[in-house]
Amino acid sequence: MDDQVVTALNVVIPTKGCSWNKCHMCSYALDSETADFLPEFIALMDQDFQKIKIFTSGSFLDSEELPSPIRNKILDIIKKKKVKELSIETRPEFAEEACLVRDYLKEDNITLEVAMGLESSNDRILQYYINKGFTFKDFVRAATALEGMKKKAYLLVKPPFLTEYEAIEDAVRSAEDVAEMVDVISFNPVAIHRKTLVEYLWRTGNYKPPWMWSVVEVLNRTRHLSPQIVCHPVAVGKRRGIRNCRKCTGTLARKVQDYSLDNEEITHECSCKDEWLREVQTV
Ligand code: SF4
Ligand SMILES: [Zn+2]
Repeated sequence: MDDQVVTALNVVIPTKGCSWNKCHMCSYALDSETADFLPEFIALMDQDFQKIKIFTSGSFLDSEELPSPIRNKILDIIKKKKVKELSIETRPEFAEEACLVRDYLKEDNITLEVAMGLESSNDRILQYYINKGFTFKDFVRAATALEGMKKKAYLLVKPPFLTEYEAIEDAVRSAEDVAEMVDVISFNPVAIHRKTLVEYLWRTGNYKPPWMWSVVEVLNRTRHLSPQIVCHPVAVGKRRGIRNCRKCTGTLARKVQDYSLDNEEITHECSCKDEWLREVQTV
C-alpha cells in the first residue's frame, strides 16, 4: 500500500450473489448465503491490520446483492477501526455509487480502493468467450467516474477458447490498455469453478488452466508498467488450478507471491519449461 508493505485483512462476506452471474468461468454465486455475518465481522476488528479487503460474491456497491443498510453498517465498523485503506469490488455499472462511499470514508482519512473485474480489454473476448455483460468502453467510463479514487483492474489469464499463446498476448495487451487508468493490476489465472461452461470444456478436454510459466511470462512483460502488478493465484498445483511440474510449482508460487510485493523480474529454470515453450510455439 503506497509503496509500503502492510498487513491486510481479507474478508469474504456472504451475500446473495452477483446479480449478473453469467460469466463463463465463475460460480461464486453458488457459494453465496445470506447469513448474519456482522457479529463475526465485528469480532475480526480485534486483529491488527492497516488495510481491509472485502470480497463479495460480485459487487459490494450493488444494493440488490448487499442491501444498503448492511453496507452502511460495514462502513461504520471500518470507520471505527480507523484503517488506512478499504478495498472493495464492483462491476462497472455500480461504480458511481463509490463516490458516496469515498466521501463517507474521507471524513476519517480512509482511502477507498475500487476493484473491477475487467478480465480483458478485447470486446470479442469479453462478449463471446467470457460473457462478461459489459464492454471495454463501459470499463473506461467507470474508471472515469472513479477519478481521484484508487482503482484496481482484475485481468484474467487464459479465458476459455484461447490458446496458451493467445492468452499470454491478451493478458499483456489488456494490461497495457488499462495501465494509464488504474493504480493496481491484478492478474487472475483461471481456476476451474464447478458448474460453469469452463468446467464443461475442461471435462471434455477442450480447456486447460494456464501454465504457471505463462503467468510468469505475463508478469515479467508487464512489470515496467506504472500500476503495481499483483497476482494471487488460487488452486495452485491442483487439478483445477494453474500448473507446472511438481518440482517447480511450489517454488514458482512463492516467487509469484514475492513479485506482488516488489515487481522484480522472476527468474527460474526447470525441465518442464521446454514442454511449455513447445505448447506456446505450436500455435
Ligand atoms: S466474474 Fe464477477 S461479474 Fe462475472 S458472474 Fe462472477 S462475480 Fe459476477
Ligand atoms: Zn517444472
